[in-house]
Amino acid sequence: MYQIKRITIGKTAQLDELAHACGEVYTATLVSFWRVVRKQGIWLKPKHLMRWHTSPLLHAHTADACVQAFFASLKSWRERRKSDPTARPPRRRKWYFRIEYKRSAMRLKDGKLILSNGKGNEPLVLDWAWTLPQTLVIRWTGTQYEALATYEPCYLPVPEGGNKIAGIDLGEIHMAVSHDGEQTYILNGRLLRSKRQYRHKLLARLQKKIDAKKPGSRRRKQLVKSKRKQLKKLANQIKDIEHKATTRLISTLHTDGVQILAIGDVRDIRQGLDVGSKNNQKLHQWSFGSIRQKLTYKAERRGMQVEMQEESSTSKTCPVCGKRRKGAVQGRNFHCINKDCKWKGHRDMVGAMNIRYKYRGEFGNPHVVGATMAAPIGLRHRSQTDVARKEKGYLREAAGL
Ligand SMILES: [Zn+2]
Repeated sequence: MYQIKRITIGKTAQLDELAHACGEVYTATLVSFWRVVRKQGIWLKPKHLMRWHTSPLLHAHTADACVQAFFASLKSWRERRKSDPTARPPRRRKWYFRIEYKRSAMRLKDGKLILSNGKGNEPLVLDWAWTLPQTLVIRWTGTQYEALATYEPCYLPVPEGGNKIAGIDLGEIHMAVSHDGEQTYILNGRLLRSKRQYRHKLLARLQKKIDAKKPGSRRRKQLVKSKRKQLKKLANQIKDIEHKATTRLISTLHTDGVQILAIGDVRDIRQGLDVGSKNNQKLHQWSFGSIRQKLTYKAERRGMQVEMQEESSTSKTCPVCGKRRKGAVQGRNFHCINKDCKWKGHRDMVGAMNIRYKYRGEFGNPHVVGATMAAPIGLRHRSQTDVARKEKGYLREAAGL
């Protein structure tokens, strides 16, 4: 896992020219690759095409990166088509393509990052307050260019003596709930859910407006542009909320000495489950995947181990007496109806506790839940940027940047 630094850099004629040169190398690669396949039945290798296609405008390694990018998408198509017969190979020509600089083409001088291009061409110069990255990719965002700088991964050690296992339950009402045997943390999902619902409504409303306009009309084009802009803004807000929440949870667990995360695997929830149209819609809107992925890489960055845990029956089983009982879940609460137990608790907390038990192979056993178990702590969304800033400062310090 690498650390990525992202900055926007506007739009200049030089950037357009370089992106177009990359598009030409990419397209030439694509065209000659498929032509050789068609005429001679041979699949060329990257090294053949890298020698073949270059550009006088580009640094040799930047041109190589365009060739490599074609082969990367070729490879991902070959992987994908094993499970998806409708997957299409990369065939589309590109007028512009992303510009990639390798370490060999970079220099730092007086707060400027100097990126070399082809011989006799002006270098690209960016204001740069950081250290030299491993690679730098410049790509178009729809309104301007952005630079993505990649840094070496930095793994942070878990605090001394950290050996706790936390079960994590991803959910609809709560983004995630963790339980490590003592402490329970709850990431509230209300804000995120309202953003997603709003996105859904907005999309429907704007699409209706667009459909009412004549194809090719100026008004229609304006509406399409405005739709794209509004959706982009919402997508950024959603991403921001997910990042802040997951960072908060992981840094809290890290401080508490958690070494292993067992995340409940909800990947097949959509296929196997029909819980009525309203709930289905909720589940579809919810992207567990993106939360899981963010939790995973943030945990791994801190040296934690992440495991997926099959989670069937975890929300319906009493974590104290270990009995599975129908009707034990009422609304957001769990009431055990076993006469000898009668334990009461938060429903999502039950999921996280049982996922943890499953990972430890103790699922369904009776457990003593006594005074050691603290009440759940809610981690609320903070609109300020202090969470992200703190995290960045922490990572930078650890990486020695
Ligand atoms: Zn019970």
